[in-house]
Amino acid sequence: MGSELVRISVTGQPHAEAAAVGSVRRGVGPAATSADAGLLGSVSRLRTFYLETFGCQMNVHDSEKVAGVLVARGLRPVENDRDADLILYNTCSIREKAAQKVYSRLGAFRKDGRNTGKIIGVLGCVAQQEGTRIFERAPQVSLVCGSASYARLPGLLEQVEAGNRRVLALSLETDECFETELTRRDSPVRAYATIIEGCDQCCAFCVVPMTRGRERSRSSQKILAECRRLAEEGYSELQLLGQIVNHWADPSPARLSFAELLSQVAEIPGVRRVRFATSHPRYFTPEIVRAIETHPTLCDQIHLPVQSGSSRVLARMQRGYTREEYLEKINCIRSARRAISISTDIMVGFCGEARDDFEQTISLLDAVEYDQVFSFKFSPRPNTAAGKFEDAVLEEEKGRRLAVLQEYQRQIQLRRNQALIGREFEVLVESFQPRLQQAVGRTTSNRVVNFPGQPDWIGRYVNVRVTAAGPNSLVAVRADQAISPRAATRSDAATCAVEVRGATEARRVEWKSK
Ligand code: SF4
Repeated sequence: MGSELVRISVTGQPHAEAAAVGSVRRGVGPAATSADAGLLGSVSRLRTFYLETFGCQMNVHDSEKVAGVLVARGLRPVENDRDADLILYNTCSIREKAAQKVYSRLGAFRKDGRNTGKIIGVLGCVAQQEGTRIFERAPQVSLVCGSASYARLPGLLEQVEAGNRRVLALSLETDECFETELTRRDSPVRAYATIIEGCDQCCAFCVVPMTRGRERSRSSQKILAECRRLAEEGYSELQLLGQIVNHWADPSPARLSFAELLSQVAEIPGVRRVRFATSHPRYFTPEIVRAIETHPTLCDQIHLPVQSGSSRVLARMQRGYTREEYLEKINCIRSARRAISISTDIMVGFCGEARDDFEQTISLLDAVEYDQVFSFKFSPRPNTAAGKFEDAVLEEEKGRRLAVLQEYQRQIQLRRNQALIGREFEVLVESFQPRLQQAVGRTTSNRVVNFPGQPDWIGRYVNVRVTAAGPNSLVAVRADQAISPRAATRSDAATCAVEVRGATEARRVEWKSK
């Protein structure tokens, strides 16, 4: 699954890693008025809510839908928890650290007594996994609700308001995806549409099948109707989401394949970019690459998590493919008529990962030359197969392998990005940095580009020419602007200083067995 970890407050500024999901709000929900307040229940005292999200894009989009449910019932989002009657944390438990963060947030309420009169709820994967243990560890919490129960939130909140101090909703028994009458979208430029929820795979390290339940696909009619509506509302970039987005199976009589769905979304008038995440290598087909070749609207980008470059480790992880099979999919993508950038997730230090296995992961980086890698140390999660494995890699060794891998990949990215200097790209502007007077946007290949711009360019497509490159971003000027060496130098200094300095100092990392 995709593991771009993000933290975003529905009304606040997202964590830097959340740039991909939009850092600027767009008020699409009806503004709540005092007359609206109380629609939750006839005597509801809830007027305001604060919702903070941890985890992947699926969680971010779930939060947009939860916010829509609350706004539709008259609650108003606020910037911080102090001003909120209702505080919700939409949580992630894919890694231990993410789960710990939630408890540290909850602990803050106990310490400074800020919870007086507030309702505090925990949603998402930690809620599903921990269940009633959350009430024990954090008695200030009165609502624990898993993702399959979000549609029931208004009723659950009424129960809390009626005096029930422990309201629990963890059922995974649903055939439905989470549909809402209103989704309060946070990005001014990109809109998400869930096409499949849950996961039926059993990767040895993953909690998702336990926390999100079994796979449920939305019908192609519902997906296409939502995408058309989004295009009419002015969203030109759409992202189709699912734990395994390419395992989507149309339950409607149309029986579209995933590639056919992509093609139909790409042809919706007003849509200029379509992305999808996260693909599973096992279900990745050449038909998807053909669809991308045929429709320029489908972005030049595929996220294909590999997790390890060693077939032995992949088998232990129960991923359902070998290194060789994965590389066949990569060859298929690389042979496309237009260049498609490839990103991945890699987990180091999985149980029993020997040095030779790790070397194979490093050699995979060379073989694929990824444009971006999200890499993590394995941490055992409760109730997973790997949680019971006894051949753990030492923490110190995991840290060392992670550092080696990240440095190795950083230099690959630097090399690939520097090869783009002088080339022109269309960029969709997502945000503006007032201090640097720079617009920040993305290419269709999902590269971040910084260039001199204006605040009102957000949402616009601008053609730029790349003038400098770091491992994680590009610096550019508008393509219709003559390149002034001075301007390029200023931009470099402002945005790429840290990256470029790091690259200059870095040696090529040679991984050697010890
Ligand atoms: S079980 Fe595997 S395929 Fe399913 S969400 Fe987890 S990592 Fe992805």
